[in-house]
Amino acid sequence: MRLIFEIEKEMGSENEKSEEKMKNKIPPFAISRLLTLLRKAYPGAACSLDYETPLQLLVATILSAQCTDVRVNMVVGPLFQRYKNAKDFAEADRIELEMLIQSTGFYHSKAKSIQESCKILCEKYGGNVPADLDSLVQLPGVGRKTANVVLGNAFGIVAGVVVDTHVSRLARRIGLSTEKTPEKIEKDLVRLFPRKNWVELSHLLIQLGRNSCKSQKPDCPNCPLWELCPKIGVPTTGASSPKLHVDLGLANN
Ligand code: SF4
Repeated sequence: MRLIFEIEKEMGSENEKSEEKMKNKIPPFAISRLLTLLRKAYPGAACSLDYETPLQLLVATILSAQCTDVRVNMVVGPLFQRYKNAKDFAEADRIELEMLIQSTGFYHSKAKSIQESCKILCEKYGGNVPADLDSLVQLPGVGRKTANVVLGNAFGIVAGVVVDTHVSRLARRIGLSTEKTPEKIEKDLVRLFPRKNWVELSHLLIQLGRNSCKSQKPDCPNCPLWELCPKIGVPTTGASSPKLHVDLGLANN
């Protein structure tokens, strides 16, 4: 993998071996600057799904696939009133469950995932959500993204970076990864950012994706990262500042 950010300019007269060793690394101050700018723009960025328990977050995150968090939050109020625990979900009438979650889309498969996951929770975990990645990804409809959301937000366990569509898109535009699959993008992000920032990073990038770096129309001139972002794959409106990229050690490919 070749990362976009390179620091050859910083290395100056370093010998070839040192340059090779440092290649593909973003200088720590650039990572720090990126986080500082995002924190300033989105103070208190956090999970925007409504939940009170790990089970509720698990269900809400399954429902959030291909759906906005706003829509999911409209659905989960009545849903969590109707089904209080994993046993309730496991024994629910499938048609009734589907009707309650219908507006989130893909409701047949989501209802199936929720019910089958809850059956396993009842059979293997006493109705509780397991607090480890390996167990979570064994549940139907639960991948690394959902598992990371649940671990990071419901349990405070940092196992990885949540890579959803926003984080995937932004990682490429900002030059943090050239990869296309969430799994490979996550590997790049966990290499670049300190573990203590992983949960916060995804919240910040998701906020940035919702507010400025939208899929079809990124609003670069008003983006908090305008000065340092190389805007990879973005039309040239709101042109970047090469000088600042050099100053920060962030250079276009
Ligand atoms: S500067 Fe543009 S491309 Fe870069 S993160 Fe902001 S909106 Fe996205």
